Amino acid sequence: MNYKSALHNPIFKFISQASKELQVDSYVIGGFVRDLILGRDFKKDIDIVAVGSGIELALKVSELLPRKPKVQVFKTYGTAMLRFEDTEIEFVGARKESYTHDSRNPIVENGTLEDDQNRRDFTINALALSLNESDFGDLLDPFDGLKDIDNKILKTPLDPDITYSDDPLRMMRAIRFATQLNFEIEEHSLQSISKNAERIKIISGERIVDELNKILSTRKPSIGFLHLYKTGLLETLLPELTALNQVEEIEGQTHKNNFYHTLEVVDNICPNTDDVWLRWAALLHDIGKAPTKRFNKKQGWTFHGHEFLGGKMVKKLFERLHMPLNQKMKFVQKMVIMSSRPIVLSQDIVTDSAVRRLVFDAGEDVENLMTLCEADITTKNPTKFKKYHKNFEIVRQKIVEVEEKDSVRNFQPPISGEEIMEIFDLKPSREIGVLKEAVKEAILEGEIPNEYEAAYQFVLKRAEKLGLKKK
Ligand code: ATP
Repeated sequence: MNYKSALHNPIFKFISQASKELQVDSYVIGGFVRDLILGRDFKKDIDIVAVGSGIELALKVSELLPRKPKVQVFKTYGTAMLRFEDTEIEFVGARKESYTHDSRNPIVENGTLEDDQNRRDFTINALALSLNESDFGDLLDPFDGLKDIDNKILKTPLDPDITYSDDPLRMMRAIRFATQLNFEIEEHSLQSISKNAERIKIISGERIVDELNKILSTRKPSIGFLHLYKTGLLETLLPELTALNQVEEIEGQTHKNNFYHTLEVVDNICPNTDDVWLRWAALLHDIGKAPTKRFNKKQGWTFHGHEFLGGKMVKKLFERLHMPLNQKMKFVQKMVIMSSRPIVLSQDIVTDSAVRRLVFDAGEDVENLMTLCEADITTKNPTKFKKYHKNFEIVRQKIVEVEEKDSVRNFQPPISGEEIMEIFDLKPSREIGVLKEAVKEAILEGEIPNEYEAAYQFVLKRAEKLGLKKK
């Protein structure tokens, strides 16, 4: 099969020319070829294998290009990278890898194209197209990857036990590709992942999180999380989630399975947000439920304080997986902590003051919080489903109204502490805090509008009760 017409990016001609001049065969390999055949959107990096030195090939290509782009050389890895228009072209020399059981770092030797294809993770990632003049565009497919693309199947080129044990990250990659491409993982491979699941512990948190983020960024992350769960990987990576997979019954009363509920919430939120951190919040919004679960005769099953505990668990989880402990973590934490607030609103009659308090507490993140909570509606009772969604519409409408009137989203007190001190000729003291808090409460309760004059009059009255006199 020949794909010459698909290699229309001019870079391929330059690589071909450079190969000819150096008398080194070269091939485009991996994700570019896979996605080309799948008809997926072109991603912005292209991997080139040279049967010889990848670095020399990259330098030659740069020499031939009109703008002579800079070549970044990574000597230790024997790779080089250059930018052409908006693509990154990676060059690597064909290599043969062999692993010993006690080290994750392979012994690397120069090899043939076949050796290089052998070390790839999946048959669909081992496809290569020739860039050599004699057979430009020919497909080299030693493991029938094309057939696996047709059958939508992920399979390792070698025995899966060897492939996964050599580099356990490949287990995550299998699950990530299955989720992204909606492919099946071959049975033998799945068994092997289950067998080798423990070995994921030798992979760094950063690389694991990279794959988790990619799974969360797909249209239906539950595909990936179910695979992670069934193979045992999830138990090692996110035990907070697997702890939710239980349904207990006491005196005929059960609670819902919060693990499957969580997966539904994650899938539900995907059409409404591409923000991977909001998707993380959906994934973690109930993790406080396993440790707070209690049963009592009066109320049945309760999860008191699960949001707050969940927020604390988010931080620990981020630390454990070496995730960023920055604003993103704080955002996920805030979403988890506030995750029940709009729900309570949607079940009751919605008052202005409750909405005002919600906007005050959520600030800039109030829309994200609403998106999370709408995704949280997984009831199978159509009457309740309709009612909750309708109430959310009312809440959203009220958020707009309340904001127009009182703008509490980024609350700035209409009267400052300095002004209060000035009016009553006070030094910094407890009374000022009390008065400021009373103004805020009155605004949130809707007793006064968020305006200077109203706040001023209110402070005068309140101060009188405290025995303060205007100067
Ligand atoms: P994507 O860019 O969507 O992640 P990709 O397949 O291009 O897809 P890369 O991580 O860029 O993924 O890897 C490029 C190629 O390198 C892969 O197609 C595969 O052939 C090979 N590869 C990457 N990681 C591994 C690995 N851990 N084990 C074996 N081969 C790998």
